Amino acid sequence: MIQVEEKLYQNRYRVDEGRPHIKIKDREICSLCSHKICTVLCPAGCYRKGTDSAVSLITDGCLECGTCQVICLEHKNILWEYPRGGYGILYKFG
Ligand code: SF4
Repeated sequence: MIQVEEKLYQNRYRVDEGRPHIKIKDREICSLCSHKICTVLCPAGCYRKGTDSAVSLITDGCLECGTCQVICLEHKNILWEYPRGGYGILYKFG
């Protein structure tokens, strides 16, 4: 099966180094969250479950779909912004 990383490799991004456009507000809340639905539903696999029940977020492959912000309804623990102009995913034929 083709891995999501391989697919994402086909997208073009301009990563805003050191300025992620999405942030987890309180990591403690993620540790306590039972379903961690963001780790399942993000189409780009930006959220990963750690071995210690923590959630890690790497936004480099983000498709800016907005799903994660919407699904974190219970805790509203995601601070979501679009990347600055000129950064993020550059849709070629979208
Ligand atoms: S906006 Fe979409 S692609 Fe980006 S991190 Fe959230 S769910 Fe993943």
